Amino acid sequence: MSNAKELKEALFLEKKHGGLLLSEEELKKAFDFCEEYKNFLNQSKTEREAVDYAVARAEKYGFTPFDPSKAYKAGDKVYLNNRGKALILCVVGKKPLTEGVHIMAAHTDSPRLDLKQVPLYEDNEVAYFKTHYYGGIKKYQWGATPLSLHGVVVKADGTSVKVSVGEDEGDPAFCVTDLLPHLAADQMKRPAGEILRGEELNLVIGSMPFRDDEASERVKLAILKLLNEKYGITEADFLSAELEVVPAFKACDIGFDRSIVGGYGQDDRVCAYTEMEAVFGAENPENTVMCIFADKEEIGSCGNTGMKCAFLRHFIEDLAAPHGIAGRTVLAKSKCLSADVSAAFDPTFPDVSERKNNAFLNYGVSICKYTGSRGKGGSSDASAEFMGWVRRMLDNGGVLWQTSELGKVDQGGGGTVAAYIAELDVDTIDVGVPVLSMHAPFELTSKIDVYSTYRAFAEFSK
Ligand code: MN
Ligand code: MN
Repeated sequence: MSNAKELKEALFLEKKHGGLLLSEEELKKAFDFCEEYKNFLNQSKTEREAVDYAVARAEKYGFTPFDPSKAYKAGDKVYLNNRGKALILCVVGKKPLTEGVHIMAAHTDSPRLDLKQVPLYEDNEVAYFKTHYYGGIKKYQWGATPLSLHGVVVKADGTSVKVSVGEDEGDPAFCVTDLLPHLAADQMKRPAGEILRGEELNLVIGSMPFRDDEASERVKLAILKLLNEKYGITEADFLSAELEVVPAFKACDIGFDRSIVGGYGQDDRVCAYTEMEAVFGAENPENTVMCIFADKEEIGSCGNTGMKCAFLRHFIEDLAAPHGIAGRTVLAKSKCLSADVSAAFDPTFPDVSERKNNAFLNYGVSICKYTGSRGKGGSSDASAEFMGWVRRMLDNGGVLWQTSELGKVDQGGGGTVAAYIAELDVDTIDVGVPVLSMHAPFELTSKIDVYSTYRAFAEFSK
């Protein structure tokens, strides 16, 4: 090799747009793949709905509820439903568990508005729900946009009723009001984080009074009467409810070329969907593969459905015990792709990113060796050896991939469930789809990247 062009090709790290690299056939597969993905987004607006969707699909693929007393053998498919809010899908591999399992872990909770425990009130003959926002949101994005209500109410007698209002054609929706510009001179002087304040995220739910002359709070009464007729609930039943307010609009294609998916909750249901499809496609994998839907990631992976909880460790212990193998033996040999989204470079806001190390739309699944903030704080920094293993897997599988870091050093930062799985003595790295407008009510992903992420998980599940 003598000329610079040849030498550069051999020595430089080059990246290319997936629209130039992928064959016509692969591009079609990528676009087709996202059709059911959009359905999944529309049907899974909460962590509970994502679990319901996955269990229904899993049962069609022959998955059965996990029974810890059984010694499972290669090809067996089981699932563990953790309280209807978190899930493990598992396909038993040909290799013994002593050779470790392959874990993919996404989260299915997304930023939203939760109802407070005593939410219902009337003010000037308009009825409202008080909310408490969940996860990292720009509060001003939640005003003046149609919202739907999802969740579960546990009644005084212990029975529960599911709620989903605002999704179906013809359903009513709900709304947080914002101030008209004409009267917003003072509001517009507030810092952006307070354009809408937490206690101003009040959801309009009705305005018609109960037709009786004397009683007070007649709009609130009329609403409770409607809720009682439809769900059999009283105001006290809100005390034992989990009701989540999310955007009412549907996922759709974005752009004349339809190359982008727009929709709510793609952080992190895009990784949940892609890892789930990979596990559904895993017939007789070498290593046992697991796909996790975790809850509570957006508020710190806490609680008994979050990734800090022992349910994964206990599942692996229970899977291994009938074979006379200790859980720790399995964990120490295991590998994990912590499946979570990354921030795509936004050409409108280039200053927050460092281009050489940022993920770009259409450059494939993004691999993030470390997350964290202020000097990698709180990160699980994957080893060079494991990064090398992942790199070989992706290259050998012909997967389009790139690396990513969350913005410039000291610009901000964030974390994922990677740290909590790595703590179990598992080789772990972050893998996921680059997102534009992350944590907004409407997020964007590229179809090429969604499909490339599925391809990465499928290679890991072979
Ligand atoms: Mn996430
Ligand atoms: Mn997030």
